[in-house]
Amino acid sequence: MVLDRINFLKDEINKHNYQYYVEDNPLIDDYTYDQLFAELKKLEEEHPEYKTPDSPTQRVGSVSEKFFPYTHKHRLYSLDNTYNYEDLEIWYKKIVEEYGNNVELVCELKIDGLAISLTYEKGLFTTGVTRGDGVTGENITPNLKTVRSIPLKLFEDVDIEVRGEIYMPKTSFEKLNEENMEKGEKLFANPRNAAAGSIRQLDSTITAKRDLSIWVYSSILDNIPNSPQTHYDSLMYLKKLGFKVNPNIRLCKDVYEAIEYCKEWENKRAELDYATDGVVIKVNSFAIQNDMGFTARAPKWATAFKFPPEEAVTTLEDFELGVGKTGAVTPVAILKPVLLAGSTVSRASLHNFDEIRRLDVRKGDKVLIKKAAEIIPKVIKVVETEDRHSKNPYGVPRKCPGCGSRLEVRAGEVNLYCTNPDCPAVNKAKLEFWASKDAMDIEFIGPSMIQQLYDKGLVRNPADFYRLTMDSLMTLNLVKEKSAANIYNAVQESKTRSLKRFLTALVIKNVGKETADILANQYGTLDNLMNASAEELAAINGIGGKIGDDIYEFFHDEKNIKMLEELKALGVVPPPVELPKSELFKGKTLVITGTLNDMTRDEANELIKKFGGKAASAVSKNTSYLVAGLNPGSKFDKAQKLGVIILTEDEFLEMIKSEEKRL
Ligand code: NAD
Repeated sequence: MVLDRINFLKDEINKHNYQYYVEDNPLIDDYTYDQLFAELKKLEEEHPEYKTPDSPTQRVGSVSEKFFPYTHKHRLYSLDNTYNYEDLEIWYKKIVEEYGNNVELVCELKIDGLAISLTYEKGLFTTGVTRGDGVTGENITPNLKTVRSIPLKLFEDVDIEVRGEIYMPKTSFEKLNEENMEKGEKLFANPRNAAAGSIRQLDSTITAKRDLSIWVYSSILDNIPNSPQTHYDSLMYLKKLGFKVNPNIRLCKDVYEAIEYCKEWENKRAELDYATDGVVIKVNSFAIQNDMGFTARAPKWATAFKFPPEEAVTTLEDFELGVGKTGAVTPVAILKPVLLAGSTVSRASLHNFDEIRRLDVRKGDKVLIKKAAEIIPKVIKVVETEDRHSKNPYGVPRKCPGCGSRLEVRAGEVNLYCTNPDCPAVNKAKLEFWASKDAMDIEFIGPSMIQQLYDKGLVRNPADFYRLTMDSLMTLNLVKEKSAANIYNAVQESKTRSLKRFLTALVIKNVGKETADILANQYGTLDNLMNASAEELAAINGIGGKIGDDIYEFFHDEKNIKMLEELKALGVVPPPVELPKSELFKGKTLVITGTLNDMTRDEANELIKKFGGKAASAVSKNTSYLVAGLNPGSKFDKAQKLGVIILTEDEFLEMIKSEEKRL
């Protein structure tokens, strides 16, 4: 029985290793893979008689036959990993028992890319090889020479081998997938696969076109006179030689400081423009490292803490149709519940019906889902199809699931729209949005409350929220005096939300948060905006003719005018926006990167707007200034490449202070 399970696990893991390392096309998510691996490791520990040298637990990765093999002079290893802090404490306790209490650790982000080794002779880059199976790798020197952040010549004429991780910035990965989608080419599941697929190309000119970079994290210092004696110092030395060493490394005095680092980066990593899947924790002293040595596949002096998975594979059980606030009818995937980024997920977005066709996803398929910046995970691709012959492709619906009206396609848009101007499903979605955090932010009013308010006829348009009384609220299910008071007060409190929120909440066609912000800052009051001509609106930077017309039409529609008058009469009046007095940043676009010392990012963005500028999130050739805080990310490199003026936080604040003095 046990042997059967062991053999099954070995076959399964070998199959997935091939898909992951050779084909760059995994069929299962990393968390599921790690669980299979941990089970095999445990069974082999309990039954050492079944442990064989060819077991995947005794080996590292895999090599493809596409490239010239290269035997590493020094073996490359993998890392043991865990998803929980207790294991880290156990690991550290054993080290302390052996080496005393003062064992320092170095924490580094675990970059989710492809491991490579680079050899330099007399300071010149000679050979670059993938990790492969740790003993033999793939010689990809010409491809690595196209990666600009790999130095071809070091600042010192030394013989050295360094190891690092090749990665593709998240933004470049998304751009590459968009381009591939337009060309009808294969999409990469994540930045790791994109980096691995791009660097392992037979044609270096393809690699050269991909935006790849490197973080270097270790070295073989045998030939370096007076070489550093600790890992941390060796990283500083690599930096001095001209290598790109990740700035977010931290020397920790014990495992508890290391755990703090893991906790801190579990959230902060979302801000980085490169994918990380955990933290690597290494013993700092080389003397202790040498003494501890290696297992068959990993160093004993290092371990990886892995973050909760952000990708998962599960079964798509059904499709459901959702009706949004704009009347768009969109498909939602109903999934077999699965753990993702720390919570159980049972729904995922499919965007639109073109996306279903493009993915060719059908009921019963196994799909890869991913949670990124958005709260709702999305379906990335089909990884295994079941019973394909018996399943029909998903048919595009013809009727609105909310009211049964005909659906229409609008020119230039991929979505289908309900044609009924009074569709109850659309109206409910609009009311939900009105009360949501992004719009008027009315606490205690969520989808189920709106369902009740709507069904009882108490709220049919936004103005009705402000007509609710304690008595009417207490007619709702489970609402007693205290919660009625809470809801009532929350509604009253929302009457003076900002003009930006108010304009966002109105669901004007093509006007989201950003455009609402532009309009609020341009006109200052609702009355001013309502009096603007279509030409004036179209001339605003960032709006343009079509959206200008949509805004004009909205404010000249009788029904809307009536609703706005009602809202005003009920006291829903956004306070006037303080229009920028200064033209310091007029016509200029500023971007923030890194951690700021004296203000939050939101505060900095507010300052930019107050002084007449535009705050953007990505660097482009239109960026006027980049304000760089501590540990700036890839925006900094991009700004440098494009010759954008870079300001420190102090310089930025200095500009503002002197402008304030001038006013
Ligand atoms: P790993 O990725 O868990 O850890 C070792 C690697 O971490 C090193 O080789 C190095 O490339 C990398 N790394 C990143 N930052 C580092 C840093 N700062 N210092 C040191 N190393 C750093 O191990 P692995 O052997 O490359 O791969 C095993 C993992 O790959 C599995 O745990 C699983 O998550 C994934 N995998 C998934 C599948 C699948 O089918 N989904 C298949 C095989 C492997």
